[in-house]
Amino acid sequence: MSADGAAHHVLILGGTTEARRLAEALARESSYRVTTSLAGRVAAPVLPPGGTRIGGFGGPAGLAAWIGAHGVTRVVDATHPFAERMSFNAAEASRLSGVPLLALRRPGWQPGPGDAWTFADSLSGAANLLPGLGGRVFLTTGRMGLHTFADLDGCWFLVRSVDPPAGPVPPRLEVLLDRGPFTLDGERELLARHRIDVLVTKDSGGSATAPKLTAAREAGIPVLVVRRPPVPEGVAEADSVAAVLDRLRQQA
Ligand code: NAP
Repeated sequence: MSADGAAHHVLILGGTTEARRLAEALARESSYRVTTSLAGRVAAPVLPPGGTRIGGFGGPAGLAAWIGAHGVTRVVDATHPFAERMSFNAAEASRLSGVPLLALRRPGWQPGPGDAWTFADSLSGAANLLPGLGGRVFLTTGRMGLHTFADLDGCWFLVRSVDPPAGPVPPRLEVLLDRGPFTLDGERELLARHRIDVLVTKDSGGSATAPKLTAAREAGIPVLVVRRPPVPEGVAEADSVAAVLDRLRQQA
């Protein structure tokens, strides 16, 4: 039982829409106290209800110590499917602290009829494949891995990210600062206005950023999809906020 009488203190490792939805759902139930942790990458994050903390823990041992010091009884890793380091840290911290961990992963995207998708196992794999697919690139993989594409001087890039890129970037690029959700009309217009001939995306899943895939299909534009890293071995997975709530109730 947590200090305020709630049966559980749930630590949500956040940074996604699903993490915020989960915090909203748990905050409505008196049996849960909820704290969301954010990495601090985004300058003005949308904060969920309940407690929040911002910044790294200092690796798995730091996270395990935080869990112990704050009476956390359940951890939900609701980070982005590509936040591989944090998911690894969460698995290690769960092992060290003995506090159960559940990973919330929205389903990945699947190609449909008319899609021309090529898959890469990593951002650097995508950078290798890119010159063979197109020259005017809509790059939507986030600002953090931009250095991976920095040597591709034969391509022109439209980079869309929440905050401005820092560090090495491709020599020919335009940056568009924007945050989803995006509309199909908006994505159609963007592809046409910039004469995009290839789209690069992570397999993030979810609906907020999916319209670009429909717009690319309609325009006959190939899509280079970076596959997700696996959830760490032995970590239980749920694919929706409702499924996490069910699991937490079963464990109550
Ligand atoms: P990452 O590479 O997996 O993690 C790097 C370090 O950042 C971790 O070791 C940890 O530092 C800290 N960290 C990450 N998530 C944290 C959290 N929720 N709370 C506290 N510390 C956290 O992470 P990333 O890919 O840079 O992503 C950072 C954040 O942005 C995540 O919260 C993720 O959900 C969100 N996000 C990521 C992507 C993406 O494509 N990767 C996209 C959208 C949103 P310590 O070791 O010091 O604890």
